[in-house]
Amino acid sequence: MDQIVDITSYNKEGIISLLRKFKIRRGKITRAQKRKRNRFAALLYKGNKCKICLYDKCIPALEFHHIDPSSKKFTISSGIDKGWRKIKSELDKCILVCPNCHKEIHYNCMDKNKLQKY
Ligand SMILES: [Zn+2]
Ligand SMILES: [Zn+2]
Repeated sequence: MDQIVDITSYNKEGIISLLRKFKIRRGKITRAQKRKRNRFAALLYKGNKCKICLYDKCIPALEFHHIDPSSKKFTISSGIDKGWRKIKSELDKCILVCPNCHKEIHYNCMDKNKLQKY
C-alpha cells in the first residue's frame, strides 16, 4: 500500500489511472485499504487544502462540506467505500474545508460573503 500513500504526488488526471490500477487487483485490497485509497483520491481531487482559509498542514484532518445539504446523497466519510464515480459526483457538491472552518460554517460563525463564493 506504500504506492497508495504516494498518491499525493499524482495530479488530478492521474487519480483515475491510479484507481483503475488498484481496481484490477480488487481481490487483494481490503475494505480498509479501499477506504484509505478513496479518501486520498477524494482529498487530492478537492485540492488537498481548505478552500476557505487554504490550510494544508494536516491534510488527513480536512473535511468535506456539502454546499447545498438538500442535494446530499451521502456523506463522503460514510460513503467512501463506494465506487469512484459515485464519490466523485458527491464530491462535486462539496468543498474541502479544515475542521475549524467547517465548525464555523455549521455554527453560523462564518462570514456569509466568504462562503457565498463557493
Ligand atoms: Zn479553513
Ligand atoms: Zn458541513
